[in-house]
Amino acid sequence: MAVVPDHTEQSAALFDRASAVTPGGVNSPVRAFRAVGGVPRFMASGDRCHITDVDGNRYLDLVCSWGPMLLGHAHPEVTAAVQAAVSRGTSYGTPTATEVLLGEEIVARTPVDKVRLVSSGTEATMSALRLARGFTGRAKIVKFAGCYHGHVDALLAQAGSGVITLGIPGTPGVTAATTADTIVLPYNDQAAVTAAFAEHGDQIAAVITEASPGNMGVVPPRDDFNAFLARTCRDNGALFISDEVMTGFRITRSGWYGVDGVRPDLMTFGKVMGGGFPAAAFGGRADVMAHLAPEGSVYQAGTLSGNPVATAAGLTTLRLATDEVYARLDETSATIQRLVGTALDKEGVPHVIQAAGNLFSVFFVESSEGPAEIRDFAGANAQVLPRFAAFFHAMLEAGVYLPPSAFEAWFVSAAIDDDALAELESALALAARAAA
Ligand code: PLP
Repeated sequence: MAVVPDHTEQSAALFDRASAVTPGGVNSPVRAFRAVGGVPRFMASGDRCHITDVDGNRYLDLVCSWGPMLLGHAHPEVTAAVQAAVSRGTSYGTPTATEVLLGEEIVARTPVDKVRLVSSGTEATMSALRLARGFTGRAKIVKFAGCYHGHVDALLAQAGSGVITLGIPGTPGVTAATTADTIVLPYNDQAAVTAAFAEHGDQIAAVITEASPGNMGVVPPRDDFNAFLARTCRDNGALFISDEVMTGFRITRSGWYGVDGVRPDLMTFGKVMGGGFPAAAFGGRADVMAHLAPEGSVYQAGTLSGNPVATAAGLTTLRLATDEVYARLDETSATIQRLVGTALDKEGVPHVIQAAGNLFSVFFVESSEGPAEIRDFAGANAQVLPRFAAFFHAMLEAGVYLPPSAFEAWFVSAAIDDDALAELESALALAARAAA
């Protein structure tokens, strides 16, 4: 295993320059290493399961661009499809054949009848909420603490991901009026949902949830929580929105839906379906989607929606993501979870590993007597954060790039091979000692 020499001069120099022109030196907060300290690494290239920074340090990548790079970096067929698309022109602002093919692929893989392409997961959830409100004529929405649905104003309430990492409880700039119609409930808590519907049932347009949350760390639904939500929504004339931006096309060929089979009214997608480019989507029941302009009157639009280069990357990625690929991802993920657990056990580091298919995360808890599982935001918040920071930096120095936050999922790619797993095992031995 190549231990990464601590060369960060080029990254440090770029970070200084970036900080002069960009708030915090980054274009998305968690990239800044605020929670773990140190200089964020500026990447220069990626090849299969590795990424290389501007100082020449090479890392096994367990972030995968926060999910999209299911097949690994610079996959030759995806690269060829993108090059071919670019050579034909990069955007026309008209319908194209590739976006039809991508729409058909999404409809074939998931329970949605109709789908609309957008450019980011944030746009997808924002649009799904507007549509749910337009369709039902109701104002209120229910979300769960610790779930992150992008930086939609109405959903930035007790959100996960960067919001929890930076300890921002509610975001200045989001007015009380904007979140007045947002009801935030504890995740996996059926009684809380029942109580909210008893009080506001005829005003609730939708319940939105991550299909299996990964933005407070991986906290899967318990006791058929999604089926309960779908039933409760149906009984009360509200819509059930399943946010599969993270899980969609990652966990199975049809996302988390492929695991629990609960049919939502609306779904949101992103990440993997763009193959590393900005592409996302929302879709659902035909009668609900018919309310969207130009068929209906709920407005939604985008200059670059269905962009020909992004859809070429996404379509090629999805076509390559066969059941064999998902089986391989499951196997790789299970091996990594076992290696992590063994290394931490050996050093007596208390932890909980939770998985949802091939997505998983490692919670560094206070003691081995602690909770056997993390069920909600409060559980995720009880982690020992300095221990994660020590572990993260030891992994980084040993050549493994993890999410720089204790509240994120680890992402595997199908490009991880036995050599990479051997690299990982050596790194884990060092990092577990650092976390002890
Ligand atoms: N929904 C979920 C579940 C996500 O994990 C994310 C991003 O991490 C989003 C929505 C927002 O997607 P984007 O960052 O593309 O706006």
